[in-house]
Amino acid sequence: MVNLQGPVPRGDLVPSGIVGLLGTQGPTARTDIARALGLSPATVTQVTKDLIARGLVEELESVPSKGGRPSRLLGLVRDAGVALGAKVTADHVAVVTVELDGTVRSSTEIEYDPAAGDAIERLGQILAKQVAELDDTLLGVGVGVPGAVDSQASGVVDAPTLGWQAARVGPVLRAAIGTPVLVDNDVNTLAAAERLYGIGRDHSSYLVITIGRGIGCGIVVDGGIYRGANGGAGEIGHIPVWPTATISAGATGRSRGDAPSSATASAGPAGSSRGDAPPSATASAAAAGRNRGDASSSGTASAGAAGRSSGGAAVSSPTTSGGLAEGEPPCTCGSTGCLEAHIGSAGLQRTARARGVIGPRGTAVTLLRAAINGDTGARQIFEEAGSMLGRALAGVIHTVDPEVVVLMGEGVDGWEFWETGFEPSFRRSLLPARKAVPVVVEPWTEVQWARGAASLVLSSPFDSAGNGGEQSRLVRARLGAG
Ligand SMILES: [Zn+2]
Repeated sequence: MVNLQGPVPRGDLVPSGIVGLLGTQGPTARTDIARALGLSPATVTQVTKDLIARGLVEELESVPSKGGRPSRLLGLVRDAGVALGAKVTADHVAVVTVELDGTVRSSTEIEYDPAAGDAIERLGQILAKQVAELDDTLLGVGVGVPGAVDSQASGVVDAPTLGWQAARVGPVLRAAIGTPVLVDNDVNTLAAAERLYGIGRDHSSYLVITIGRGIGCGIVVDGGIYRGANGGAGEIGHIPVWPTATISAGATGRSRGDAPSSATASAGPAGSSRGDAPPSATASAAAAGRNRGDASSSGTASAGAAGRSSGGAAVSSPTTSGGLAEGEPPCTCGSTGCLEAHIGSAGLQRTARARGVIGPRGTAVTLLRAAINGDTGARQIFEEAGSMLGRALAGVIHTVDPEVVVLMGEGVDGWEFWETGFEPSFRRSLLPARKAVPVVVEPWTEVQWARGAASLVLSSPFDSAGNGGEQSRLVRARLGAG
């Protein structure tokens, strides 16, 4: 169950504690509010009376209670506050207006070029125009970007797919718009929305996995989004998968006695040819490459292969150079062989074209349509993608140990074709104690990215983890929730 309570709210914090509870748990009876927040029934009665008078909270339907007398549920007045959410993509900005309970009031898409010299200022103009059409119930603006963000409150962005490096999105937008602005990685915004309106109402630790143009992961641990030291946590799209495992160079013919037993350590013995060897532990896989006949294709097995090899010369695999596998697909991050390069929509298209499943101008939609029409080649591509996702996700499960996984994103439209590969590979790869971890697939609509961005603002009054800092405090002040 969710542990939102933390310390019992005192004094001025009681109203925002109650608003926070209603925002994250939905309509709740006064007795349950008192129990959840550790407050006396008299305090709850008094404070909720004030919140009702301020138009923030309203009485809803009655529900039966154990004592016999039905109790009234209290809920937030959904239009007491709205947030503007903007999701920035490589060719447009999706903008939504969202009410306090997550209801999308309006949505629009505006053409946008993030590579333009004045891209951030232009984004400020776009959003300022949208804000001008809203009244004073606007609480703030949330922005989701496909990249790493230093903090929600600061909003400095590194987003290679937009061409942004250390882009001062938060400060520029705040100056242009004049409201609180919160910025975060787009997948984190979906995790924030789930926390408010979805799976987070029943679970405190979960993963939000997105499949589509990219492969992303929002990590929620103990009710808070885990962002990492630099805002870069959850970039599972850049897990190197290199399924062919023919990685370059540097194999040495040390005797078995000298060879360490792990793949990680085996980079060491490559020392006799260190100049040729990539600096990473995966260099050891090269040894496996030479001995492909008897070695497993995994890096782990390569130490054994290194031990088995008897020659003294370093050998480079012809398919590799410079530590990157040339046969592996290029990734937007500049590397090759990342999970996303294989199973992001561009990767799937590349494979489908190479196999003649779709024509040179075929798109992700063409590929999905082929699968729906029963094309076995198309279905095979999704099945392989599902299998690769399953193995990678099992690794994440073992690292984070979530209660549940939520799958969403543009790619879930074709999930039935992914699933045939995903389920067996995912379950087989999981430790026995984790095998039953539930995976929930959520239907996808395009407004969800922007709605997620808005939820950065809407979660501010309920943000016990304090992700939004000063900007969240300003949002709370605008809501009048203390
Ligand atoms: Zn990558």
